[in-house]
Amino acid sequence: MMQSDTAKPSPLFKKHIPIFTRSVKGKFRNFKTAVLVLAYTVYFMLPWLPWARNSAADQAIMFDLGTRRFFIFDLIVYPQDIFWLAMLLFIAAALLFFVTGLIGRAWCGYFCFQTLWSDLFIYIEQTIQGERPARLRLYNQPLNAEKILKIGTSHLLMILVSFWTGITFAAYFSYAPQFIHDFFTGQVSHTGYITVLLLATTTYVAGGLAREQICTFLCPYARFQGVMYEADTLAVSYDKRRGEGTAGRIIPSEGLRTREQRQDKGHGDCIDCGFCVQVCPTGIDIRNGLQYQCISCGLCIDACDNIMDSMGYPRGLIRYDSERNLASETPHKPRLEWKRLKVIGYALALTIASGILFYNIGTRSDTEVTVQQVRQPLFIMLSDGSLRNRYQIHIVNKTAHDESYKLSVRGIPQQALDMGSIPKIKIRAGKDLSINAKVNLSHELAEKTDEFDFVVSPATPASEPVVIEAQFKSQHDH
Ligand code: SF4
Ligand code: SF4
Repeated sequence: MMQSDTAKPSPLFKKHIPIFTRSVKGKFRNFKTAVLVLAYTVYFMLPWLPWARNSAADQAIMFDLGTRRFFIFDLIVYPQDIFWLAMLLFIAAALLFFVTGLIGRAWCGYFCFQTLWSDLFIYIEQTIQGERPARLRLYNQPLNAEKILKIGTSHLLMILVSFWTGITFAAYFSYAPQFIHDFFTGQVSHTGYITVLLLATTTYVAGGLAREQICTFLCPYARFQGVMYEADTLAVSYDKRRGEGTAGRIIPSEGLRTREQRQDKGHGDCIDCGFCVQVCPTGIDIRNGLQYQCISCGLCIDACDNIMDSMGYPRGLIRYDSERNLASETPHKPRLEWKRLKVIGYALALTIASGILFYNIGTRSDTEVTVQQVRQPLFIMLSDGSLRNRYQIHIVNKTAHDESYKLSVRGIPQQALDMGSIPKIKIRAGKDLSINAKVNLSHELAEKTDEFDFVVSPATPASEPVVIEAQFKSQHDH
């Protein structure tokens, strides 16, 4: 079909209209603030928490890329423990699905980094520039000293917070006090400076400039969350029936102030004050129904509850409720409906994965041993007729101290093991070592031996020896 000359294609780019949120008091605001304070305390303080160690810096949490060891309090994670990372990612995904299935985007509204940093930056703006009307006035007024000073100071503070966010992130990867000293004396590597710059810039751009656009346009979760929603999922919802009545919402006026007066004339409880829209960090009107931009922060609930209180109407015109309950003829008090296949499935996956991870961490040996048979050639016949197999044994010392090990064999005579000129196996904390071992068996014994064990015993008395099964080859594989 031909397009008419006058038909205009819809623009690919829509100009960003800044959102000036109004502050609000209420239980969801308080909860968000509590989460924010806790999250900031943990994030900014953790690299400074001391933790006595023998083989590394005294820092409770440190991701030491140099020695390829992650220190998490008393737990030391090695590259060989990559399985834990995979499990952690799986658990995080299952937890996200589980929570979303139950109460929608609670993660986004209260815990996501984007929310936390945006929230703080909005707080900075409110403190420096004032409440929503003052900020709107400032935005619309021509450039003058007041505008430059207030907006400039706000952004300077946001940049400082972003900068410290970047520094803190980098401090997790080295000894924090040393890193800060080296950073400001120009002794950190280029990678260190680039990391801080990158983190600071992304924090400032995401939290200070882009804000809700990250949630709306960039975050993939906003797009696929719908898959996890069900009719029983709790989501921030406007009770349309109650708010609109049969004659629609209306502002209070003479003869339309009390609930009874409004109901007599068919009007609902919504007084069309717009407070719920003004507090919304993504700038949407929840009265238009569930929208993918809604991050479930609950601030519009607080806003509306305050209005309902001031009017003397019952709270909960906007509330966490399920689609099914809202549509029901006799709605009950909103509650978590967890007895659903999807939710139970997510919970099960979460429990099993957590169980596996904790079991794996709890039962991990401090000594990791892998044995590889040298296959070129598979065996060698010696001049006396005996057969020799060779093995490469890789030992990782996962303890926080230097350790000595004794290598022995089980199932074949001890003297069959030939370690060459290595007198003692000693491995430093967190390090590994590969050694070559030969096993020589007489022709008769070789004929009878298919398998035996290598036993690696740490010298520390309480440590458990590690037993690894190995094969002895006396003929070629077919
Ligand atoms: S509509 Fe309400 S819950 Fe959703 S983002 Fe806006 S204020 Fe938060
Ligand atoms: S805050 Fe409540 S009363 Fe005011 S417009 Fe929103 S839904 Fe209506």
